[in-house]
Amino acid sequence: ADRIITPARRAEDVDAALRPKSLEEFVGQKAARENLRVFIEAARSRGDALDHVLFFGPPGLGKTTLAQIIAREMGVGFRSTSGPVIAKSGDLAALLTNLEDGDVLFIDEIHRLNPAVEEVLYPAMEDRALDLMIGEGPSARSVRIDLPRFTLVGATTRQGLLTTPLRDRFGIPVRLNFYTVDELESVVRRAAHLLDLGIAPDGAREVATRARGTPRIAGRLLRRVRDFANVAGVETVDAKAADAALNRLEVDKLGLDAMDRRYLTMIADIYRGGPVGVETLAAGLSEPRDTIEEVIEPYLIQLGLIARTARGRMLNGRGWKHLGLNPPPEAGQ
Ligand code: ADP
Repeated sequence: ADRIITPARRAEDVDAALRPKSLEEFVGQKAARENLRVFIEAARSRGDALDHVLFFGPPGLGKTTLAQIIAREMGVGFRSTSGPVIAKSGDLAALLTNLEDGDVLFIDEIHRLNPAVEEVLYPAMEDRALDLMIGEGPSARSVRIDLPRFTLVGATTRQGLLTTPLRDRFGIPVRLNFYTVDELESVVRRAAHLLDLGIAPDGAREVATRARGTPRIAGRLLRRVRDFANVAGVETVDAKAADAALNRLEVDKLGLDAMDRRYLTMIADIYRGGPVGVETLAAGLSEPRDTIEEVIEPYLIQLGLIARTARGRMLNGRGWKHLGLNPPPEAGQ
């Protein structure tokens, strides 16, 4: 039991150890990877800093990892912070003035910057300058401070969450998509190797199939599967061992957990397949609307189990089928 409730720090350490360190090592996201390679090479050959990059896509797909890879491939320093952490414009000014020439500044959850802080970012991104107000009242004046060259790498779950002026200042917007099962299989095999865990091809496939298209989840499931394997004295994890462990973790064949099933069941049982508004679902499930929209729904939509419509969420035929239920006749599915 001790092994399963490992303190968060330890889990984080493993995560960091599993991070690919170069574009070469980074699995999947082919279009993004190839474009970044070109832009990095071009900037390097000109001796420029890379243009500002915005990564958007669901959590756990590799935004932070790619930001670190950019810094490494550009041969520059990496500084990391997040939108909600930067409380005042002075905090951002301090961060910016402390950058070294060419550094990557990574801002996670960049859509959560407060508006006053965001204002400071515009001239910094555009003109590499900081406009500071000195003094107060009639004697107040604005001073412009030049900043070192730097690359801002922002990460957000959806591009649409950014204000237009901020979005427009990123020269390189990059969308990250859910990984295919084949890609996740590579992620799992690589992670198993790094964790020194023996895994059969069908075992890697089983974990990959149930990881919601997300490398972070693949890594987490793999560590739990390893726990079960260790305790059961299993040397090499095959599909059967992986299946047994994942069932005990209540992760079903499609990679859905208890929360996903509660969500689907609520639309089916209470709202006869929908449409039902997201606020209503959030209240019914006692989950924040953000969690529903950012974490639960994207993968259910990807699988075709539900649809987002103008009138609300609808359960699709596949959704009914996954629950082992028949849609009511008037639902028209
Ligand atoms: P995000 O910033 O999008 O939430 P991260 O970059 O923190 O995601 O990635 C989450 C975890 O998934 C990382 O710890 C890393 O080990 C793993 N990971 C992400 N992308 C890949 C990839 N392409 N190949 C292998 N592992 C990956």
